[in-house]
Amino acid sequence: HLDIRGLTASYANLTVLDGIDLTVERGEIVSLIGPSGSGKSTLLRVITGLLKPDRGEIVLDGSKIDYADRRSLKAAREKLAIVFQQYNLFGNMTVLANVTVAPAKVRKRDRSEVEADARRLLEKVGLGDKLNAYPDELSGGQQQRVALARALCLKPEILLLDEVTSALDPERVSEVLDTIKLLASENITLLIVSHEMNFVREVSDRVVFMANGKIQEIGPPEQIFDAPRVQRTREFTSRIA
Ligand code: ATP
Ligand code: MG
Repeated sequence: HLDIRGLTASYANLTVLDGIDLTVERGEIVSLIGPSGSGKSTLLRVITGLLKPDRGEIVLDGSKIDYADRRSLKAAREKLAIVFQQYNLFGNMTVLANVTVAPAKVRKRDRSEVEADARRLLEKVGLGDKLNAYPDELSGGQQQRVALARALCLKPEILLLDEVTSALDPERVSEVLDTIKLLASENITLLIVSHEMNFVREVSDRVVFMANGKIQEIGPPEQIFDAPRVQRTREFTSRIA
């Protein structure tokens, strides 16, 4: 599981995360919501080792990330996979190759085993008939589903999703959200950043509301959306309802 304790992080002299404490248990689905600029993406950057915190610590499955040690960062990254708004598929590779390349080459897993996994995952995200297509032959929603299959093929302890639907046109959003719901019904640990509030309400075990670099409130979706205990949360969730 993931344990974040007393985390503070900044860009130059701008403090963006200010004392974040958060635990994500194995198999749990936690969503981060909050206004633009509240620090959600920055928190994911710190978790993936791309940004060194000023204070506090992150413990992944019992090992504390040491940001000064490349091996520690590498070990942490191997436990994580992240999907962003931009799908970043390799344009010169087929769908199947996009999904298998990192597990086979970087993580040196058995190629036939990786390929069997990839086929199963692509089937699962509804792209079993597109294995040999190239990314530019797919819609944005299909490309994003390839990106999800690719992330899962890394067998991460935790999958991080940062606004995976925000570059899609509205008709494509639901196919990607439905795919995530399907994945969520398995025993996967997910930390999701999303502005799709109906989706967040439906899929999350717990919702974290952030504003001004701080966690303002954490609770089950019914609390955060229907009965927030903190004024700042109420201001946010009442506006989006
Ligand atoms: P959004 O919902 O718009 O994606 P967010 O909650 O993900 O917002 P962050 O991207 O974490 O917000 O940004 C938090 C703050 O840090 C903002 O004030 C932003 O301007 C600032 N910031 C983000 N990235 C950088 C950077 N690379 N350099 C300097 N400041 C940054
Ligand atoms: Mg963001």
